[in-house]
Formats: sequence, structure tokens, C-alpha cells
Amino acid sequence: MNSQTHIRTRPLLRSNTFARNIALPMNDFIAGTDISRQLTLLEKSQWWQPEELQDYQNKRLRSLIHHAYTNVPYYHDLFRSLGLSPSDIATRDDLVKLPVLTKEDVRKNPGKFVARNIPQKSLIHQTTSGSSGKVFEYFIDRDTLSISRATTLRGWEFAGYRVGDKIATLAGSSLLPENVPLYTKIRFKFSHNLPLSSYNLNSERLNGYLQQIIEFNPRYIRGYPSSIAILAEHAIEHGIDAINPEGVMTTAETLSKTQRETISAAFQCDVFDQFGCFDGGANACECDQHSGYHISVERSVHEFLDDSGSPVAPGENGHIILTDLWNYAMPFIRYDAGDMGVPADRICPCGRGLPLLERITGRTAEQVVLPDGKRLPGLLLTDVFEDGDVVTAIQDYQIVQEKVDEFVVNIVQSDRYSPDINNEIQKFFWGHLGRDVEIRFNFVDEIPRTDSNKRRIVICKVKN
Ligand SMILES: [Zn+2]
Repeated sequence: MNSQTHIRTRPLLRSNTFARNIALPMNDFIAGTDISRQLTLLEKSQWWQPEELQDYQNKRLRSLIHHAYTNVPYYHDLFRSLGLSPSDIATRDDLVKLPVLTKEDVRKNPGKFVARNIPQKSLIHQTTSGSSGKVFEYFIDRDTLSISRATTLRGWEFAGYRVGDKIATLAGSSLLPENVPLYTKIRFKFSHNLPLSSYNLNSERLNGYLQQIIEFNPRYIRGYPSSIAILAEHAIEHGIDAINPEGVMTTAETLSKTQRETISAAFQCDVFDQFGCFDGGANACECDQHSGYHISVERSVHEFLDDSGSPVAPGENGHIILTDLWNYAMPFIRYDAGDMGVPADRICPCGRGLPLLERITGRTAEQVVLPDGKRLPGLLLTDVFEDGDVVTAIQDYQIVQEKVDEFVVNIVQSDRYSPDINNEIQKFFWGHLGRDVEIRFNFVDEIPRTDSNKRRIVICKVKN
């Protein structure tokens, strides 16, 4: 490929009226969903005052609790055993009266979580793979499907997206329509989406993708940050500057500072990071102020708890505990999906009333354990790879905590690597972990990906 590939321009004024007002409602009619109406609600509620959003959330919470007590055997028994009635949970602050729910709790007796008043034919089967690799199965209903899709679309709108805009998606199986029903494949096609698999990103494939993206001329590129960063590096290396989307949206992995800068430089646009967890209804996305992630409180209650179950203070790292306010088929109340993050207590300059998440600190499995038993977001250790000489000396890396006092750093060297780099990394690690911790270096050709081809930067093998 050469850099002389013609730059395609897009009209400045775009009309998405057909997609938003006709195609989306038509899609709802055919699929039996309610995405269009839910999106309209979310577009309004994002500008409500925080108190108004809180009232809305509490109202939905009260009706969910009432439903769970009346129709869901697990919750009926739980409330009885705790001596609680539904009226005891009137606001989100009352949720502390209930225990946190884990995937294991659900796995023990999934049938007890299914609401008795929901007809069998309305149950939609879902699966997700947790960090343990074990498949987790559950049910949702059409309302959950609709609000989930609408919340995702609103998160994209924070980046300037409008329904009908063309998107190129570079990701693994968690975002791409492989092995999905024909309906989803057709929806992908008609929602102006170019799917690009992030498996085997060799030079030939990257050239092909860049060419396809130039031809497709998308307004947005979306996908795993590690994959888009590889594509961005390839574009820079080969002088390809003909791809200028309005934004890049990253999700499903933790976005590093270097990845953000590389992607932004290659495609000359802003990068919008997004966080979601379908089984708990988590959703938090950056707006153009990049002042944190706006939490979709209309979708789920997001609590942030320390290891002992108490709420953390703003600015502190906590387990993200979710209460999906829409799934009446199989309600999960105070569900721990295994993600961690830091809540903020400021208001975003954009004017949206939605509260902010400061940063996502990764999966529980990405928190390392210190000799005193405390947990530290493993992502803090990645800062050393983002700056100075280290950033150019190392192509890719992964931190594995084998034991409390033993870390292995897997490294893919670049041609600018020198042994001094190890000392720099070791010094940085010791600063966070203490001097008693052994740091070993392991040089590899490639960092292995997960089954869905995600990049895991930190792996902690130490059990609680
Ligand atoms: Zn904002």
C-alpha cells in the first residue's frame, strides 16, 4: 500500500433521520424490541439533574425488589430468611441489607433465579465467559435487550455518533457476529457495520484491513484497544494517513495511555473509551470532555465496594457491584461480575447529570496481592511501560503474579531494547510492591490472547 491512497471526504451535514426515525423503529417492530423508544428516554434523562436521576433509579429499584420478592423463589426465600420485606429496600442505600451475589451463587441453583410469572417463550438465553473460563448461563427478556442496546447507542452518541453512521469494528468474538443468529448478522449488515476479526493480525491482513477501511470510509472505528493500536501502528509505519474517522471507540479491554496516543495520532481523532458488562447491565462511557466515564444509572445501580463489602470513598478502588434494573426474567440484585473501578464525585463539564467513574481498574483477576494482603490495581504497574525509554524498548508485555512475592514480566522486545530496561522496570515494581518481591523477566515472541482474543495485561494467579 502507499500513502497516496485518495482521501475520501464525507459531507459535513449528515441526515440520519431515516435511520433514527424509520429504520430503527422498523427493526424494533420486526424483532419485537423497544430500542428506539428507550433511546429517546435515555437521550433526555442524560441531562436530568443528579437528584432526578436518583429518584428515577430508586423508583425502578423499588419495583424490581417487589417483583423479585413476589415472583423469584431465590429472593423470596432470601428476604424471609433475613426478616426483610420489600419495603425495607426503598432506595439504593438500603441495598447494603442484602448480600452480594456471585456467579457461583447463581450456578448452584439457576432455576431459583428465574421469575415464575415470565412465560417460558419470553426468556432469552445468554452466555458469557468469566475470567475463570467457565461459561456462565442466564436469561434476559426483550426489555433488557432493548435497554441494553439503547444504552450502548447512547454511549456511542457521547462520541458524536448518530444512529445510521458507518462503523468499522475490529475485535474478537465478544463484539463480532460470529456464531450468532442470522438476524444479528443481518442487523450488523444493515447497521452499516464493517466487521474485522482481530485474530492473526499479520502484516498482510493489516494492509487488507486498512484498504477495506479506506474504501468503507466509516465515521467511527470501534473495538479492542490492543487490536486497534496494532492497526494504528501499522498505518503510521507505512505512512497511511487516509483514515480519518470522527472518533475511535474502545471497549472490552483496558485502554492504556500509549494506545490512546497511538490511535489518536494514526487516525487524527479523539479516542472514546467505553465500559460495559452485559450480565450485570454495567455501562459507563467517556464523553468529549474525557473527564471520566458517565455511568448509566437508568440501566443499573452501580455500587463500589471494598473487600469487606463497605462502600469505598470517591477516588478509591472498589469492586463494581451491579443491580440490573430491567431484567425481570432473571433478576440479579447486587451482582459481582468481577470488574473493579474508581468512582468520582465531581460533575462533568459537559452538563450531563450522569455520575462519573474515574477509571476502570480491570477485572478482579487483574488486581495484584501485596505481601500484607491488600490488593493493588495491577494496571498501576503498567505505568512504567508507558513512559521514557521503556515505551520504545518493548513492543508488548504482560505481568503475571505467580506468588505473593514473585512476578513474571513477559516481554516482546523491540530492536531498541537493552538490559538497562529490566532495571528500570524492577525499580518501579519494587516502589509499588516492596523490595522483598522477586521480579523475573521472560522474553517471548508474542503475548498469548484469551479465547475471545482479548489482551490481558495483568494476570494474578494468587488465590484469596
Ligand atoms: Zn461529560
